[in-house]
Amino acid sequence: MNILILGSGGREHALAWKIAASPLTDKLYCAPGNAGIAQEAECISVDINDHAAVTAFAKEKKIDLVVVGPEAPLCAGIVDDLEAAGVKAFGPTKWAARLEGSKGFTKDLCKANNIPTAAYQRFKGAGTAKEYVRRKGAPIVVKADGLAAGKGVVVAETVQEAEAAIDMLFGGGLGTPAWEIVIEDCLVGEEASFFALCDGETAIPLIAAQDHKRAFDGDKGPNTGGMGAYSPAPVMTAAMSTRVMDDIVRPTVRALAKAGAPYKGVLFAGLMITEQGPQLIEYNVRFGDPECQVLMLRLMSDLVPALVAARDGQLKNFGLRWYPDAALTVVMATNGYPGSYGKGSLIEGLDQAAQVEGVEIFHAGTKTDGKKILANGGRVLNVCARGKTVREAQARAYAAVDRIQWPDGFCRRDIGWQAVERET
Ligand code: AMP
Repeated sequence: MNILILGSGGREHALAWKIAASPLTDKLYCAPGNAGIAQEAECISVDINDHAAVTAFAKEKKIDLVVVGPEAPLCAGIVDDLEAAGVKAFGPTKWAARLEGSKGFTKDLCKANNIPTAAYQRFKGAGTAKEYVRRKGAPIVVKADGLAAGKGVVVAETVQEAEAAIDMLFGGGLGTPAWEIVIEDCLVGEEASFFALCDGETAIPLIAAQDHKRAFDGDKGPNTGGMGAYSPAPVMTAAMSTRVMDDIVRPTVRALAKAGAPYKGVLFAGLMITEQGPQLIEYNVRFGDPECQVLMLRLMSDLVPALVAARDGQLKNFGLRWYPDAALTVVMATNGYPGSYGKGSLIEGLDQAAQVEGVEIFHAGTKTDGKKILANGGRVLNVCARGKTVREAQARAYAAVDRIQWPDGFCRRDIGWQAVERET
């Protein structure tokens, strides 16, 4: 098969690594890719927001499957456009991608189908939103309705903080003013990222992971796209996984099929495991980043047939096998991230780092300059490792981190701490 991956982050490098290893793959392309992905695939400079250009490339190169990494092209309908032109694509349609693109849509779907999630209301104006917040009290969570790259959620500890968040979102604090916000109760528990593969009718569970969103050790500092992740997630027992499939994922897939917009692709449920059981925080319509990196390290089966089966509606009798080992990834980011940061600093020692047993390094934001590897983004590297336990995977990942010379970068030193504490 000729396969085209869309995206340029660590998630796409992990997908490229796994897809390139498949005996089904003849030729692998990635648009636009990065310096690490270039070791697995031919990187091409097609703009992934230009659906006509992507479609033309896919036709010209006789691409058998397009795998869409990030949410923005999915929410913009790239799967609809590719499929309309006769190109097979893995991922949900524009309509189904509203599960990520509109928080209000998802909350209403949950309510209509008895899917456990925090109590909420939708607002189009600041006045009624503030009234609601004053009535409900804090802590309370304020969210912009649309895509906001992780920046549209404020967990407010006080009513004043919630009111400020309402003003910020409606006032254009994220660039453009929110046209609608969702305000919901604050859930208490441990978070987990749960993944399922869906073919429109059938959903099969993948595995779960836990990530660290805050920038600094001890889960402190500003929120980021994710500073590390590990799998298995100790809170996600087999019984919990069954409950999430039965109470959350399958009712969602059934509801979308019934509405005439079957969901195909990866469904990523952000969960809060509360004392009352799992509650849905949010859906994402693609693999998580950096969760995908640890999923790919633990996946024993070939990924390509699974993606094709999901696209073709053939998951009914499909099964995937996983390594029992743990996997963990440490994100290395440019100093300053998630605020402003420079680009172009030199990274050395990657080859020595990759020699540590069980280690795999995925690039998230790099570019080449001759033989040199330069940082080219906020999150730059994913230093990943497998091990018999999370503790072993963690030790291996940090042994590799310590071999990387990059004065302009930083990472957290405590990724996986909850799991390591439990193992102890
Ligand atoms: P989201 O973008 O909806 O995943 O929210 C980002 C983060 O905000 C989540 O990973 C949670 O840590 C937190 N969060 C969102 N909604 C809630 C909620 N209802 N209760 C508690 N924390 C939440």
